[in-house]
Amino acid sequence: MSKVLDEVLAANAAYQKDFGEKGKLPIPPGRHFAIVTCMDARLDPAKFAGLAEGDAHVIRNAGGRVNDETIRSLIISHKLLGTQEWFVIHHSDCGMLTFTNPVIHSLLDESLDTASLGPDGWYNETKNGGADARHIDFQPISDLAGSVVEDVRKIRENPLVPKYIPIYGYIYDVKTGALVEVPAATEVGKAR
Ligand code: ZN
Repeated sequence: MSKVLDEVLAANAAYQKDFGEKGKLPIPPGRHFAIVTCMDARLDPAKFAGLAEGDAHVIRNAGGRVNDETIRSLIISHKLLGTQEWFVIHHSDCGMLTFTNPVIHSLLDESLDTASLGPDGWYNETKNGGADARHIDFQPISDLAGSVVEDVRKIRENPLVPKYIPIYGYIYDVKTGALVEVPAATEVGKAR
């Protein structure tokens, strides 16, 4: 049996023991806000933003980027579940800063196995049955503050997003745990 699977199921058994009243929580987030952020394993929004179960929506993907899927979730978050303020939080040392679309397209074209990152960038250690991914925009990041502004703007300009929802733009610093505002993003995202 997988070691990870064992560990996860053991941790869950322990979690259930102290589950308490959380089974009575309603679906809508009690603190009425949502966070869009990166899937990076070093980021724990529950800890860095002080969330308990039932408090807020956390929408995560590679980079914390905004795309059709993110918008879909945010619209449901507000329209059906009542969130009234949103955060876009990217972070320092993000893996999305390490490649471009052409790079990941050619890596995938050559092999589907995990690639390695060397001093000259990403490379494959195997040539093992690639596939064409050129139709996919992986939303890499070249400018961290710029990507926060761009993503806040994408949400702000979506016609299905009410103008009264403020959208705050932040960068999480993986070295210190600090949330650092991107003022240009918060300005773009302010409620009107
Ligand atoms: Zn990241």
